[in-house]
Amino acid sequence: MNKNVFFRFSFYVSLSLLVLFAGKVFSQEREAEPADNFQMEVYLTQEEALKLVFPESDEIVTDEIIMTPEEKQHLEQLLKRRLFEDGFIVYIGKKNDEIQGYAIITEEIGKFHPFTFIVGVKPNGKISEIAVLVYRESRGGEIARKRFLYQFPGKSFKNPIRINKDIINITGATMSVQYMCAGVRKVLGVINEYYLNGKREINVTKEGNDKKMQSSAGVAHRNLNEKQSKKGDEASGKKLVKETRMIMGTFAEISTYSNNVKNAGAAIDAALNEMERMDALLSNYKKDSELSRVNREAAKSPVPCSAEFLEFIEQSLFFSELSGGAFDITVSPLVSLWGFFNEKGHIPSDEEINRLLPSVSYKNIEIKRNGDKKKPGTVFFKHISTQIDPGAIGKGYAVDKALNVFKKYGIDNACINLGGNIYVLGEPDGKDAWRVGIQHPRNKNEILGYLELKDEATATSGDYERFFEIDGDRYSHIIDPRTGKPVKGTIAVTIVAPSGTDVDALSTIVYVLGKEKGLKHLREIPGAEALIACENGGKIVLYTTRGFNEKFTRVENEGKTDVTWHVVSANQQ
Ligand code: ADP
Ligand code: MG
Repeated sequence: MNKNVFFRFSFYVSLSLLVLFAGKVFSQEREAEPADNFQMEVYLTQEEALKLVFPESDEIVTDEIIMTPEEKQHLEQLLKRRLFEDGFIVYIGKKNDEIQGYAIITEEIGKFHPFTFIVGVKPNGKISEIAVLVYRESRGGEIARKRFLYQFPGKSFKNPIRINKDIINITGATMSVQYMCAGVRKVLGVINEYYLNGKREINVTKEGNDKKMQSSAGVAHRNLNEKQSKKGDEASGKKLVKETRMIMGTFAEISTYSNNVKNAGAAIDAALNEMERMDALLSNYKKDSELSRVNREAAKSPVPCSAEFLEFIEQSLFFSELSGGAFDITVSPLVSLWGFFNEKGHIPSDEEINRLLPSVSYKNIEIKRNGDKKKPGTVFFKHISTQIDPGAIGKGYAVDKALNVFKKYGIDNACINLGGNIYVLGEPDGKDAWRVGIQHPRNKNEILGYLELKDEATATSGDYERFFEIDGDRYSHIIDPRTGKPVKGTIAVTIVAPSGTDVDALSTIVYVLGKEKGLKHLREIPGAEALIACENGGKIVLYTTRGFNEKFTRVENEGKTDVTWHVVSANQQ
């Protein structure tokens, strides 16, 4: 069984830098791939890998390197190989503001498919940890094992890392071993060049309690927005202040342009703290969250809840009503049955599904408001097996909460991103709008184009972020609560709407309902626009509403263009 559960990077404020051109590299001399070759093994999620590499860190920040052609050539000469990426995302683990190490998650191509691995490097240049996140072939997987990888820690860029000399080969896996050795050299080369040799001049600013990392001007954070601001002279010279944390099992990133780095840092910290508070309230993984408590107790008797929690449930119920049950936070038992919580894909029988369906209905949630500030109200489940899963709305909700906190600091611009649920406030320095790239749903190295947004939110629900495959069939993590089965037909939906909660919920709703019905429901939220991607006989058909199209610029794709575009009206019946 091939299973695949990917971390989410559905949206990029900055373009994805982890470029891999699997097909291009060795295609000429490649032998035909055996039919039984592709076998995906997911060993670690990105979050687990970062925890492994930075076990002690209290903060992990990211730094993006985009190489100029000259820099790339220099690195290629240094490594004596060709590189297929133009940049890297470097994770920097810190404890009490002190750098504990660097890590890069990267890919090399095995015999036919790329494998993904992480290499952690200490500030002294020596490898601290190395691990494989995903291996994609039936042969050569030995390189993911500890008994092979133990050979790397302690080695540095000074060590040549040659197969058979420095690293013991594994019979039958020579090619993978070779590529792993080259990949490790690549990471060491980058970290050595950019961080240990001082080229990057990372300065960690310490201002009061602010712990922001900034790079020397003009080098780092060259995302779509910054590239854009270089074009004109209108930019006021404000600094880009940015911080990334792992929250709700995904990346939370807030960026803002400011003259007052200290205030900007405090605003970002407070907003990220607010997201963490939402996680503590709404997590269905944390046993002590209010949501977990409700899940444990609400089928027995009404559970007293905070006003904030009741408001969250009410918002969720609003979207269930609006969508006629296509959106339903009680989908939890089905998500679990299909194996999406423990990331072990499983196709249940119709009988198993039918047994659970009565527990899945938002109508099973009963809210009683007391009108009392101290005892705002209770939540009761009318079915013994009802459970709540906040997955399709919680992140958007947390973005809105974070925005409210951020605004209190009097800053007029920000990009708040929680796992692809993005709200952009105002305008980036010197420009009219924030640019948000929209990923190609079938080619993670490409974007379809970018949105230009201001004071609004966007999010995507796609079948390419979390799914599993069995016998070539893809099962997405979005389930139609009415049938109990993963939705087919739609492959991605991007929504633009006034708030984070709107876009998170609506992207799931339109995904479940599909193009025709989905578009009708959009009309009920003023300002909501959509891009809907469907797959038809291997071809991707994209529909955008007029309003979406006005904010969107398509980009030429490098690969063969297998997409067709249609502009539709949300008002059409
Ligand atoms: P993302 O994982 O990118 O946030 P979504 O916002 O679309 O994607 O949320 C999908 C998650 O919501 C699933 O992983 C699952 O936990 C839950 N879910 C699945 N189907 C539904 C549905 N029909 N209604 C509400 N929640 C759902
Ligand atoms: Mg959603």
